[in-house]
Amino acid sequence: MTAVDLGMPALHAARAEAALPADRPSVPGLVDRFGRTATDLRVSLTDRCNLRCTYCMPAEGLPTLPRDAVMSRAEIARLVGVATSELGVRQVRFTGGEPLLRADLVDIVADVAALPVRPEISLTTNAVGLAHRARALKDAGLDRVNVSLDTLDPDTYALMARRPFLEQTLAGIDAAAREFDVVKVNAVLVRGVNLDHASALLEWCLERGFELRFIEQMPLDADHTWDRSSMVTAAQVRAQLGDRFDLSPDRAPRDGAPAERYVVRRAGSGDVLGRVGIIASVTEPFCADCRRTRLTAEGAVRDCLFAHTETDLLGPLRAGADDATLADLWRTAMWGKHAGHGMARPDFVQPERTMSAIGG
Ligand code: SAM
Ligand code: SF4
Ligand code: SF4
Repeated sequence: MTAVDLGMPALHAARAEAALPADRPSVPGLVDRFGRTATDLRVSLTDRCNLRCTYCMPAEGLPTLPRDAVMSRAEIARLVGVATSELGVRQVRFTGGEPLLRADLVDIVADVAALPVRPEISLTTNAVGLAHRARALKDAGLDRVNVSLDTLDPDTYALMARRPFLEQTLAGIDAAAREFDVVKVNAVLVRGVNLDHASALLEWCLERGFELRFIEQMPLDADHTWDRSSMVTAAQVRAQLGDRFDLSPDRAPRDGAPAERYVVRRAGSGDVLGRVGIIASVTEPFCADCRRTRLTAEGAVRDCLFAHTETDLLGPLRAGADDATLADLWRTAMWGKHAGHGMARPDFVQPERTMSAIGG
């Protein structure tokens, strides 16, 4: 394996492989064989979505899970409670699919905010319908919101999301900005579609005090159209933004965050306008410092976006397992986490689940 495959310096990886025993040690947190500890939990609340983003879902949608296969409000609170009380999880992000499609989202947030060990609670959403629920979510205890927005052009939005909902998304972002101190905007750039919208989107975010993060497109789409040679890389994003801005690396510690942050200045002037992030999962991977664990909407642990195996927790929970048993299953699942996504390896295989079904 090369350093790029692993997302970590090869030497560090080799030492880690050699130094750690094959059997999981009895330590309290979600540790893996490579010495990483997961403290950041992504919970998928549903596999359904009201958009059909080309890089995520097929035009016709995907078969959806039967209602009783999806975690209920009480089951989510129970498993998140195990994660925060027994496993050292400190941050919980609700995602999907589209989490706003859960009618009980506000209650789910309130339940998690009332846990004995309360995590920081955030939401990733396409913001369609957020305008009506932002206040209630804030009151329930939601701390932060990340909104996905790839373009400000209605036609391009409709092309990428295959739904004409730009206005609803913008209304949702406005509401989020009124209620929350921190609003982050996620954008995926696609060559020939919205790459040349990048600077306008950044300008718009900077004017409003939002932190924009460009995410490199990953091979997690249903149509299997991802191609390394045509995807927009972090270096190309930086070059594209160079038409209006000067970027310099932010020296603040990254602290496990997926985004590499840059200080943004108007090109040719010294004026600092704000920050921008680039999540370079493909070309500059950060797997060596990964702190994430995931629960699918069916209550299964995924140790990585690119995992090919999952560990069911919902079945044992429904069969009466106690918290200690669930925590132990979760620890064992995370111990098996691979060093990195291995996207550069010739034997790389895209996971069966798409991003919408994993919980991005
Ligand atoms: N529906 C919500 C949304 O779009 O924000 C939450 C779920 S979505 C799967 C979470 C994030 O994953 C979004 O910001 C989206 O842009 C990103 N995403 C989806 N497919 C992706 C892909 N193939 N590569 C990189 N990011 C992707
Ligand atoms: Fe839905 Fe989010 Fe996937 Fe777009 S990226 S299809 S909004 S789950
Ligand atoms: Fe790497 Fe997997 Fe962590 Fe993503 S989830 S940073 S691919 S180890």
